[in-house]
This record gives sequence, C-alpha cells and structure tokens, in this order.
Amino acid sequence: MVKAVVGANWGDEGKGKITDMLAREADIVIRFQGGANAGHTIVNDYGKFALHTLPSGVFYDHVTNIIGNGVALNIPLLFKEIRELTDRNVPMPHILISDRAQIVMPYHILLDACEEARLAGRSFGSTKSGIAPFYSDKFAKIGFQVSELFDEEILKEKAERVCVLKNVMLEHLYHQEPLKPEALLETLHEYRDMIAPYVANVSAFLYEALKAGKNILLEGQLGTMKDPDHGIYPMVTSSSTLAAYGAIGAGLPPYEIKKVIAVTKAYSSAVGAGAFVSEIFGDEADELRRRGGDGGEYGATTGRPRRMGWYDCVASHYGCRLQGATDVALTVLDVLGYLDEIPVCVGYEIDGEVTKEFPVTAKLNRAKPVYEVLPGWKCEIRGIRRYEELPENCRKYVEFIEAQIGYPITMVSNGPGRDDIIYRESSL
Ligand code: GDP
Repeated sequence: MVKAVVGANWGDEGKGKITDMLAREADIVIRFQGGANAGHTIVNDYGKFALHTLPSGVFYDHVTNIIGNGVALNIPLLFKEIRELTDRNVPMPHILISDRAQIVMPYHILLDACEEARLAGRSFGSTKSGIAPFYSDKFAKIGFQVSELFDEEILKEKAERVCVLKNVMLEHLYHQEPLKPEALLETLHEYRDMIAPYVANVSAFLYEALKAGKNILLEGQLGTMKDPDHGIYPMVTSSSTLAAYGAIGAGLPPYEIKKVIAVTKAYSSAVGAGAFVSEIFGDEADELRRRGGDGGEYGATTGRPRRMGWYDCVASHYGCRLQGATDVALTVLDVLGYLDEIPVCVGYEIDGEVTKEFPVTAKLNRAKPVYEVLPGWKCEIRGIRRYEELPENCRKYVEFIEAQIGYPITMVSNGPGRDDIIYRESSL
C-alpha cells in the first residue's frame, strides 16, 4: 500500500509532522522530489529537528528511508543532517539512495546565488540552494547521476564538458573564477566515497517491497502552489510537488498510490515571492507569525519570516484537487485559539467578478480576497483527542473549510507532537 503525504498550499503545512506520525505504521518512507531548499520541522521524543533532505521516517528503527531519483541530492548536506541526528542520540537511520538520483554540485549553488544577485529586486526569492540550476542541468542532460560516480571514464569526460559550459556563464555573465575539471573530479570522487554504501536500485527494491505487501509513504516537499506546472509560475520550485510525481520520483507504478493525504494549515503562510491573495500585514500578521507553527512561522531552512495570511479555500480546493486528495489533514488549528473572529477567504474578486476557481498567474496577481468571517473559540484545544470534544465554533471552522474545499478533512492536528492528532469521520 502506498500513501503520499503532500502539501495543498505553499509548503510548510506540517507535512513533516504528519509523515513522522504515519511513519510509525510504515516500512519505507521516500522523498521523491526537491532538495535541501525547504525543511520539515519534526518534534518527537528525541527533541525538535529540522530535516531538509532526509525522509521523515529517520526517527524509526523499523523504517527504510529512501532518497528517490527525483530528488536534488546535496551530498555534504545529507551527511551533515545525518550527523545532526546521531549527535543527538537518534540511532543511525536506514538509508538508501537511488542510483538514478542526480547530484547538486557546488557550481549549482554558486550559479543560483550569482543569478539571484544579478536579478536583485526582480529575483524569485530563491533559497540559493542550487535547485533551479540543478534541475535545468538535469533536463539539459548535463547533470551527474549517482550511478555515473562509479564510472571513471564518464565522469572525466563529463567534468570537462560541463566546465566548458559553466565557465562561459561564470566568467562572462557573473565575473567569477572559472571551474577546473580536476577540482570538479576530486569533488565527485569525495561524493562517491561518501555515498557508496547507501546506493541502491530503488525501483527494484520497491517492486519487491510492494510484492511483499509493505507500507510505503511518499513524502512531498513544498505544495501545489509551488508546482512548476500547476502552481504560481514562475514563482514556483523546479520539480513537481504533486503526489502523481511520486510515482516517477520514486520509481513506482502510479496506480499503487492508494491514498493521497493533502496537508493544509488552518491559516496560510508562504515563503518567497509571488501572489498570495489572502496575505495579511502589520500587527495582525506579526501576531499570527509569532504564535504560528511551533515557535513562530520562520523558515526551517533560511530562518526567513514567513508571509502570513488567512485560510484560503480557493487555493486549497485547487491544491487538493491537483494533488488528488483522498484525505485532508488540517494542521496547526490550535494556534487560532486567540482570535475573536477568523476571516476565511472563500472567493477571489478578479476584474469585478467573483470566482472560486484558482486562476493562472496573470489573473491571480489581480485577485482580491472575498472573506467570510467566522467566530473564534477563544480557548486552548491542545490535548483534546476526540473531535466531539472540540469547542463548537472550532468544529464549525473545520466543517466550513471542508465544505468550501470539497475534500474530506479526516485528520485535525492540534499540536506539533506525534500524538497531537484527532481522527474524524468526514460527512463528505
Ligand atoms: P512542512 O515543511 O510541511 O513539514 O512544515 P514545517 O515543518 O515547515 O512547518 C510546520 C510547523 O508547524 C513546524 O514547526 C511543526 O512542528 C509545526 N506543527 C505541525 N503541526 C502542528 C500543529 O498541529 N500545531 C502546532 N502548533 N504546530 C504544528
């Protein structure tokens, strides 16, 4: 049985917590896209951790954690992350790295930073992790696949070819020192020696795992709005954030993905540039940011303050639809307990007309939020384990959102910990 845990919004919805929680029942957890450019925050018995590359199953001894072929693999960061876990008494996790994953190279990171600096005020708000240059090279067929690390001839030839290309940009556009093939080759050898014990034919492993009836979790990074096809292009990431891509980025048959858990936060937040219709500002935003998540809404990778907004049903309906949600997990509901009233965005006004359909970017940039205001519940809901025990206004908030988005909210998260979860029967 394969389940996917994916984001219905802009990312940071709490996917890490939901994956960590579901991983208890899983045999395998797989990252299938993205790189170290975003982070999941996980709170469990070992403490609080920010994971960037590692799958969220790393805290369980019974889980095999897989870095799928769709991932942008930053090898030094992967090992730094593993060390951060083992230094804090987490047992060394079981890790497999796909022999078809490609490698983020130091020049991807350099080029990312150079391009952001060149664009200055017109930048995409990149985290400068090299993700866009990495995926550009993958599809331009000049990336380094993990398997190639073990073929000296390929490696040498490609290192030379890549340096010629990269040096045109580095020297003439960005006025940087040129790359040297020998130095590049040395880096690649270091990478090879680091990951050699973990490299595997992942699709063959998964084929056998499926035959043996194993439970597999696919873990998405970011969310629908950051998908390069269906998101707010060009303010998107460079790999697909959709559950459907899990089949490709892990090497699984698409029909094996039986459950898609779309994670959505009880209010909105976003990082980076791009349209954000229900965004709020000033004191209202500061207060929500300060109270949000677990210790404030600041980027897990960059520490940047996240942009804040009210819940957006238009974006979330679309977000769940493109994910193909079978279940919705509504997270961080506990944070809203301080509000007298809670606005919820139920439509977009574009050129004088109200729509519930999430539009293409040019129209999205002109959209203004249409709000309905719901009463708050004004109390702490952490610790509650049964849906019926939530305050009435809190249940009304959940049910209002469910009706608006049109997908069943079967899990409500009311705290950052593994056990802070309420399962419910949806009436949808
Ligand atoms: P992800 O990238 O989707 O995993 O999301 P992040 O980890 O960036 O952001 C979610 C933040 O909210 C983390 O700090 C989590 O510990 C925290 N979190 C997750 N679920 C809940 C919840 O139900 N309540 C509270 N208060 N915090 C939560």
